[in-house]
Amino acid sequence: MARKKHNGKRGKMGICPKCHAKRVLTKHHVLPRRHYFGEGEVVLLCRKCHDDMEKIINRRERLTRDEYRKLARKFLTRNGG
Ligand SMILES: [Zn+2]
Repeated sequence: MARKKHNGKRGKMGICPKCHAKRVLTKHHVLPRRHYFGEGEVVLLCRKCHDDMEKIINRRERLTRDEYRKLARKFLTRNGG
């Protein structure tokens, strides 16, 4: 029996690699879609960490792919806020 994919919330529960909380995770594109159109890696983050990451990115001008990747890595490995 086929079930429709329609359960309100997008994303699924998982452990956020940044804050290690069990939350609904959302996809974050390491290379912003507005510049790179879905190219590159995707990281699953909780809503809060996703917002933090976006803020960091939005404060900057367009970066190179390498710079975005470094930024994401730094964000994920940094402890605390
Ligand atoms: Zn998180």
